[in-house]
Amino acid sequence: MLEAPPARALDAYASELRRSYAARVAAAKRWGLAQVPLLPPAPPARKPELRTREGFEVDGHRARRFPPVFTTVPTRQKVVFLTIDDGAEKDPAFLRMMSELNVPYTAFLSDYLVKDDYGYFKRMQDGGVTLNNHTLRHRFLPGLSYKAQKREICGMQKIIEKRYGKRPTLFRPPYGDYDRDTLRAAKSCGIKAVPLWNAEVFADRWEYREWDRDIHPGDIVLSHFRGKDHWDGTMPDMVRHFLKLVTAKGYAVARLEDYL
Ligand SMILES: [Zn+2]
Repeated sequence: MLEAPPARALDAYASELRRSYAARVAAAKRWGLAQVPLLPPAPPARKPELRTREGFEVDGHRARRFPPVFTTVPTRQKVVFLTIDDGAEKDPAFLRMMSELNVPYTAFLSDYLVKDDYGYFKRMQDGGVTLNNHTLRHRFLPGLSYKAQKREICGMQKIIEKRYGKRPTLFRPPYGDYDRDTLRAAKSCGIKAVPLWNAEVFADRWEYREWDRDIHPGDIVLSHFRGKDHWDGTMPDMVRHFLKLVTAKGYAVARLEDYL
């Protein structure tokens, strides 16, 4: 039979739980959320097997030789993943908000937008965010030669490695557009997976890829580093809009890297 832990240990555990819940309630209040974001379950012990999503293949079955392209991670857990692209807006309030709420996300950076302030994304990385590849200049890749595509992708690998000490394993093509050369180039630059997205969130609305206009377990959600120049609101407004729906539907936000 299992022996019960001493009452004092249980008291300490309960008070720790109460404290951490109180901190989460306070952070949610501070950032204007009506509901406290749900805690994600423990990441799966065995990573799901990733396959290129139907309709996203290039050259039929040969696509298997390339890094998988997908919009949803196969899981039954009620989790979604937040990914944020480009890098134009560098709002310090956003970094504070995400670390106080403890909501994970993954960044896909394009050098021409981040190079005026690499330090902002260093602070993001120090907060536990993985910085991934969204090319040097955000060109429409299928319009470029293989060599030019490779420069766009491998060039960004080098910059992220030099500035942030880590070579990305994830790559997202600008606009989600790619061809066989894109995937071949990405693979040769050391890319392991090409996550696209199944829904996109803005400061004031959602857009969906699926006909049911809903989120699903394992969905990857896209947003952008944008501010009032580009859309009707701020980065914190976007996060509020994102969390409002996700939490109301009973989903937690999990870390994409934990599943890949
Ligand atoms: Zn982009």
